[in-house]
Amino acid sequence: MRPQDHPSSRRDFLKATAATGVVAAGVDLFAPRPATAHDSDVPEDTGRHRRRYVIRGGSVLSMDPNVGDFAQADVLIEGKKIVAVGHNLRADDATVIDARGRIVMPGFIDTHHHQFETALRSFLTNGVLINDGSNTPSSDPTYFEFILLTFAPVYRPEDVYISELFGGLAQLDNGVTTVHDVSQIHHSPAHSDAAIQALFDTGRRAAFGYFESAGAAILGTNPGNKYPDDAPRINKQWFSSKDQLVTMIMGGEVYLPGYEKAWNIGRQLGLQVAAHILSPFNIRPTLDLLAQNHGGDSGTLGLGPDNLFIHMTGMSDLGWQAVHDHGVQVSVAFPIEMNMRHGQPPILRLQSLHMEPSLSTDVEVTMTADFFTQMRSAMTMQRMLVNQMILEQGNFEFPTQWPTPAPGTPALLNVRDVLRFATVNGAQHLRLDRKTGSLTPGKEADIIILDATALNVAPLNNVPGAVVALMDRTNVETVIVAGKIRKWQGRLLDVDLRQLRRQLEASRDFIFNAAGVKQDLFLST
Ligand SMILES: [Zn+2]
Repeated sequence: MRPQDHPSSRRDFLKATAATGVVAAGVDLFAPRPATAHDSDVPEDTGRHRRRYVIRGGSVLSMDPNVGDFAQADVLIEGKKIVAVGHNLRADDATVIDARGRIVMPGFIDTHHHQFETALRSFLTNGVLINDGSNTPSSDPTYFEFILLTFAPVYRPEDVYISELFGGLAQLDNGVTTVHDVSQIHHSPAHSDAAIQALFDTGRRAAFGYFESAGAAILGTNPGNKYPDDAPRINKQWFSSKDQLVTMIMGGEVYLPGYEKAWNIGRQLGLQVAAHILSPFNIRPTLDLLAQNHGGDSGTLGLGPDNLFIHMTGMSDLGWQAVHDHGVQVSVAFPIEMNMRHGQPPILRLQSLHMEPSLSTDVEVTMTADFFTQMRSAMTMQRMLVNQMILEQGNFEFPTQWPTPAPGTPALLNVRDVLRFATVNGAQHLRLDRKTGSLTPGKEADIIILDATALNVAPLNNVPGAVVALMDRTNVETVIVAGKIRKWQGRLLDVDLRQLRRQLEASRDFIFNAAGVKQDLFLST
């Protein structure tokens, strides 16, 4: 296939791949649903060139200090872009979306998610990373032994496709309009192409993270593996246009032998180089070498502002200082790190270095990829640490049982902080801040409309507070990506979810069977 003729639409892809078995022939996963009265008021042709509509009367949380916030205002969209934000915008030719009683804000941005694991959702809700020999429900099954070494190696390209697509649509439904999909499932170029096609087909903004062939590389079961050498082909075939929703990031795991090659390929292509940096796998000494420009096989590899590091748990002062000094971006998966023993989420360290994280949902085998959970977890975890720190500055007796925080005590995270982590920081960390992350005129319109009249939110007393403290998926009423409405009044558009779910379940059945793992809905050991 030549670079310029990869299938550009879902139907073309399905036709093109039916013959190769990537998607079962005869199944149209995107068959339009019968029109209903509900659907008839969806504004048509949104996102198309010059198409104008105005979101009127919502509480606007722009996440751009230069734009500001509005108790009630309008957002005007033309084509893909936000044209204006303000009071009583004149837009006589524009369709009106009534947003009274709603909160209008930028979509959430997830800087680390393994969507290929969607078929395995909730399988590992007790598990930690690696079997620790404790013989407890947390030690078996575990992530390394089961997800990476047992399930991942049996994936076919069609399994990659449906998991990536379903997981992506689920997050879109949840208001997450951008993802960095850390796909570690590249057993062959066909697996890579299936992952990328699914990201395009999801119709949201995505950075495709080209990582290794998980499990199969260790087990030697992947003769078709072309990682990392296939990166130039992938980059040329899929990412030659800058004006598309999907971009590319190079994966370069420092616990894999020869990781320098991947870093060099990524840097030669001008891509960001991302890696998991966490407590196990002897990464601390490896990062220390990188911090001193002594990394890789050459002993000369160093850090740069093109690095995106995931977790950053368990690292040394030396490693942290170099990450700070080189402008490395840090993505933190608060709930997963706390649950799976990656180490303590490094929020206090980031604060001490005047750095801020973006947020990672990581793996739905263990925890939801919902962003309200992310924001609440980040805020709750940090405040637990700091509040206890402050209490212990006293002696739990009058008059010091409620101390004034000592100088140097970290500031408590607030709702604005975690909203920034969830939006603008994510855009910056994926180099997408000129396109998304805030409601700024000139940026593309990645917008969510949240229902603040709902039973779990009303009455609205604090806009950022209601989003972080009270809301969940049920409040995500409308989702817009690059001007195009993808969810309307509570329902995803343009997808046959029942058909997709059947496809995902069939894939799940294949994966468990091929991996030799018995399906057990009440797995407890
Ligand atoms: Zn990860």
